[in-house]
Amino acid sequence: MIQKKRKFEGMVRIKILIIEDEPKVSLFIRKGLEENQFEADTAFDGKSGMKMALTGNYDLIILDLNLPIKSGYDICKELRSKNNMTPILMLTALSTTEDKLTGFESGADDYLVKPFEFRELLARIKALLKRSLQNNRTGNILKVSDLELNLETKTVRRGTNVIDLTAKEFSLLELLMRNREKVISRSEIAEKIWDINFDTGTNVIDVYINFLRKKIDKNYPKKLIRTYIGMGYTLKE
Ligand code: CA
Repeated sequence: MIQKKRKFEGMVRIKILIIEDEPKVSLFIRKGLEENQFEADTAFDGKSGMKMALTGNYDLIILDLNLPIKSGYDICKELRSKNNMTPILMLTALSTTEDKLTGFESGADDYLVKPFEFRELLARIKALLKRSLQNNRTGNILKVSDLELNLETKTVRRGTNVIDLTAKEFSLLELLMRNREKVISRSEIAEKIWDINFDTGTNVIDVYINFLRKKIDKNYPKKLIRTYIGMGYTLKE
C-alpha cells in the first residue's frame, strides 16, 4: 500500500519496527537498517512494542523473543489474533527446534538466532518483504487474482462485485486464501473451521465448498477453487 510508506526525499521507504530490549542489539539493527535506506522505529519492551505494532502501519516487525512485560510469543499471537498480518521476523538466543516451532506456531514468518551477522538479517528481511509483496498481503487484505478478502471489514470482493458470505463461508475462504496454492485436506478444514473430527463422516465441508463456489467462482470465467480428489481443496489462480 503506497499510503503506508512515508515519502522521504522522493523515495518511498520501507518502515520496520524493532522490538528489542537490549539497547546494543537494537542500535546495531537500527543503524544497519538506516544505512540500507529503511526507516526504523524502536520499542524496548513488549507493551509499547505491541502498541506501536498495532498503530504504526509497519511493513515488517523484528521481534525479540524475551522481552520485559510481554514476550515476543505473546505479541506475535496477539497480533495474529487481531488479524494483523505484518510479516514478523523473530529473534532469539534459543535455538532448539522446539523453540523454533513455538515461534512459527505463534505466527512468526521467520526466525533468526542470536548472535547473527547483519547481512544475514538483511537477507531474511528482503526475502520476507518480497514474499509479502508477492502474496499481496498488505495489512488486512488477502488477495488471490481478483478475489480480495478484507480481514478487518470482513468483506469479500471479486473484481468490483461485493460478495456476501456467511460467517462460516468467510472463515473457510480465509483459510483457503491464507494457504493459497497449498492443498488443504478435509480433515484440516473440519478441525480448523468446524472444530470437529472428520471421522464423523460429515459432508458439511463439501456442502460449504459448493456454497463458496457458487458465490466466488460460478459467475466468473477464471475459477479459483480446485478439488483434488481424495486429497482436499486448494485456491489458486
Ligand atoms: Ca531480550
